[in-house]
Amino acid sequence: MSSKSLDSFLQQNLDDLKDKGLYNVIDPLESPNGPMITIGGRELINLSSNNYLGLATDQRLKDVANQAIEKYGVGAGAVRTINGTLDLHVQLEEKLAEFKHTEAAIAYQSGFNCNMAAISAVMDKNDAILSDELNHASIIDGCRLSKAKIIRVNHSDMDDLRAKAKEATESGLYNKVMVITDGVFSMDGDIAKLPEIVEIAEEFDLITYVDDAHGSGVLGEGAGTVKHFGLSDKVDFQIGTLSKAIGVVGGYVAGKKDLIDWLKVRSRPFLFSTSLTPADVAASKKAIEILMESTELNERLWDNANYLKKGLVELGFDIGASETPITPCIIGDELKTQEFSKRLNEEGVYAKSIVFPTVPRGTGRVRNMPSAAHTKEMLDKAIAIYEKVGKELGII
Ligand code: PMP
Repeated sequence: MSSKSLDSFLQQNLDDLKDKGLYNVIDPLESPNGPMITIGGRELINLSSNNYLGLATDQRLKDVANQAIEKYGVGAGAVRTINGTLDLHVQLEEKLAEFKHTEAAIAYQSGFNCNMAAISAVMDKNDAILSDELNHASIIDGCRLSKAKIIRVNHSDMDDLRAKAKEATESGLYNKVMVITDGVFSMDGDIAKLPEIVEIAEEFDLITYVDDAHGSGVLGEGAGTVKHFGLSDKVDFQIGTLSKAIGVVGGYVAGKKDLIDWLKVRSRPFLFSTSLTPADVAASKKAIEILMESTELNERLWDNANYLKKGLVELGFDIGASETPITPCIIGDELKTQEFSKRLNEEGVYAKSIVFPTVPRGTGRVRNMPSAAHTKEMLDKAIAIYEKVGKELGII
């Protein structure tokens, strides 16, 4: 028998979320997460995946993953520091360092995990972290876990960052001060002002931490936001995920050798959670090799992204501050956002609504994620459906 207090807590809160249009329904896919997906037996144009380059279903990745399973099995068998480090893990980390132009790199089981691991391995209660208010949830949780003083910075507001950096460093209260930001902000698609952030960091001796989950494979001809701005030697922590453009799963830190050596002995998911599977590691390594060899997929991604964005803007949709393939259509009201997404789905487009707490209240949006794998015909069809539903609901 379950606890009465738990039952009433769950019922009240779930009902409340449903009434406010904040309850997220999960639709299982019956197909790969490619440009077209099948849900409930219906084929839909997929504008919700992070599979930017289409690599999640790439035959070259599937082949090396299958070979890795044949050679090593399906699981790594232990945490990295016991005997769960395969030669494949080492090769992946060497490739990541090459990809990010750093001395070394360390891989984790997810991007989320990586932020929890890396921030708390370096920062503690005697430190402070200047964190952009729109940073990803995993950054926020990593900061909280570290017990450092968290100083929220207004989104991409460099005057606010400078003032707070000055105050924190001159207060004498903290041993170390870090500035932490997404490279590309995941819900709006705008790019962090890294040149200014790095300049402020140099002025006040801040540790710099950039989570480039949505920039890698996308900006800097695929190498990421730090490379895009030519700042590879000026950022202490370059974080990435293997789950978006790379198409697999996992996360990583790229940086100086001493930093990576420290993370190997002090970051808890590395020490206490079983390492990435052989198939994940082999496929990720292959994806990075493909990205380093050719910019073809990256160019196709941008071509499709620009095409979709132009189509939506011409129809009158508000795509906010987007500078990257992440293309929100901002609706505002949560219930209307959910209705919009539902109608798009009925007409043949899968574009998920994103509402509080993922974004601030009153800024509900349908977020579109074009990929290199979409065809122009798919995008034309999606734009036509947006026009129909947008007019029907009085959004455009
Ligand atoms: N950081 C950012 C900025 C993200 O957008 C995400 C993905 N939602 C993550 C970290 C987490 O990455 P992963 O999905 O690999 O856990």
